[in-house]
Amino acid sequence: MTARILDGAKIRDQIFAELGDEVRLLTSAGVRPGLAAVLVGENPASQIYVKSKIAACEQLGIASALLTPLATATTLEMLAVIEDLNRDNNVDGILVQLPLPPQVDTKRILEAVDPAKDVDGFHPVNLGRLVSGRPGLVACTPAGCMEILRRNEIQIEGANAVVLGRSDIVGKPMALLLMHANATVTICHSKTRDLPDVVRRADIVVAAMGKAGFVQPDWIKPGAAVIDVGTNRVTDPKEAERLFRDFPEGVGPMTITMLMSNTVKAARLRRASPRFSATQSTASAR
Ligand code: NAP
Repeated sequence: MTARILDGAKIRDQIFAELGDEVRLLTSAGVRPGLAAVLVGENPASQIYVKSKIAACEQLGIASALLTPLATATTLEMLAVIEDLNRDNNVDGILVQLPLPPQVDTKRILEAVDPAKDVDGFHPVNLGRLVSGRPGLVACTPAGCMEILRRNEIQIEGANAVVLGRSDIVGKPMALLLMHANATVTICHSKTRDLPDVVRRADIVVAAMGKAGFVQPDWIKPGAAVIDVGTNRVTDPKEAERLFRDFPEGVGPMTITMLMSNTVKAARLRRASPRFSATQSTASAR
């Protein structure tokens, strides 16, 4: 059987085209979606991530603002920044780039974000809405995996889905989204016994465990859909060549895409009149 590639970059382009249309419609009605990114200190990786997020906003016509508190910022100073953004009606989405410096209480900062502007989907209110199947803002990486599955017409209903990892930002929301789409879901973690056998029964595998090359080819049932969420540092060039031979862009472009989608969705839910619900894109409607 020949493997089919689930191409994240192609789906990003589709969703960007849909979101661009929706941003134009909203903007022409006086509601230009806006994202505020908060980048604390000078972590080079965080700077690159935030730059890509702002570039995506510019490509789509979403307004963006970058706030750069010093690396010495305290929890109270950070809370004041978040409060200002919560009050600013032109800001639909607040993105706090992690990690925050050690002196800042990250949980407190994330919980201070207005759930209606929580475009990362990390706030307990949004996680709770996801648990109970109510509309809300869903964490971007798992939401992107659902788009990859749906837009490739992978059958989810009735499928055996195995999620490797149980973090709050990837594994748990991923399992919930698959369950709400009527898959039978198994969540695996570091204490799971006989992992290869569990994975062998899966029609859909989502690997989010932070370990490069862990899942082996002979664990995969023929015809199963496999999404590897991991972004891991590989320092051995030979190992990198083995892992990434013929490897396409996958989930990476989808995470930023769903951040854009959540920003447009937040703008629509917070500010737009009901007539937009008739014209909204499929991606931001979910
Ligand atoms: P995390 O918080 O470190 O969680 C890793 C999960 O994997 C944990 O639940 C852990 O189990 C489980 N695990 C570890 N070793 C295992 C093993 N041997 N067998 C089975 N399960 C095992 O990581 P995360 O934040 O969810 O991120 C997961 C991966 O996705 C990372 O590589 C991260 O860089 C990547 N990521 C990518 C994107 C993207 O845009 N592509 C976005 C976010 C994250 P325990 O709970 O038992 O410890």
